[in-house]
Amino acid sequence: MKSNEVAHHIDVYSIFPDYVHSALQNSLIGKAWQSGLIEIGSHDLRGFAKDLHRTVDDTPYGGGAGMVMMPTIWGEAIDQSVEFSKAKIHDLIIPTPAGELFTQKKAEELSRAEHIIIACGRYEGIDARVSEYYQSQPNFRVHEISIGDYVINGGEAAALVMIEAIVRLIPGVIGNPDSLLEESHTLLDDEEALLEYPSYTKPAIWRGLGVPEILLSGHHGKIAQWRLERSKERTRKVRGLTRE
Ligand code: SAM
Repeated sequence: MKSNEVAHHIDVYSIFPDYVHSALQNSLIGKAWQSGLIEIGSHDLRGFAKDLHRTVDDTPYGGGAGMVMMPTIWGEAIDQSVEFSKAKIHDLIIPTPAGELFTQKKAEELSRAEHIIIACGRYEGIDARVSEYYQSQPNFRVHEISIGDYVINGGEAAALVMIEAIVRLIPGVIGNPDSLLEESHTLLDDEEALLEYPSYTKPAIWRGLGVPEILLSGHHGKIAQWRLERSKERTRKVRGLTRE
């Protein structure tokens, strides 16, 4: 299948494109990629540098430690990605610990995107004007996203987390779509999402530990009720569920 026939296209820009590429070739994401359900491009940001040393960063205005990634380089990379895309709207994700927290809801929103561009920062991050500029472009939606309240060294691992969460929601990627319905964080209505109930498989006894009797009963209604109660119990304990 040619790239312009693929409904979901993800372009990742990074100074470590091989890291991103090799990680994404595995598992369900790799299969979806091979089958043509999605297309993922992993691009070398340094290819847009202008000097012999392929520099992509410079010292911060106002002083301070570390280096900042240059907007000129990022602008060229993102514009090139748009040039090769047929999408009308481009969703630009900028991973940053200072962004909105990534959630299942955000993954669902992004699973409907036609063209996602992920700008993986390094050093102290990307010049703030990159986000500002593309926010002002009518064909762009910009998402500054944090994968959690901690700092990692670069946006690549964050990009991989987001791609995993987004791509598995694209119809056809997961063999049995029912397995998406009862997962932790899945919002089935406007209520709070629940965490998943505990799961068990064979053997029925392992190191002296048994499986809850109800799961062996074959009574689907009672099993569903038991699972809902365990979900609520777990959510209350771990996340402070407020509804009964
Ligand atoms: N100086 C930045 C700050 O304090 O907000 C941290 C920069 S961090 C060392 C370098 C890059 O790693 C960021 O530009 C971003 O791409 C990525 N990164 C680090 N922590 C992240 C997180 N929690 N979520 C998403 N991306 C993160």
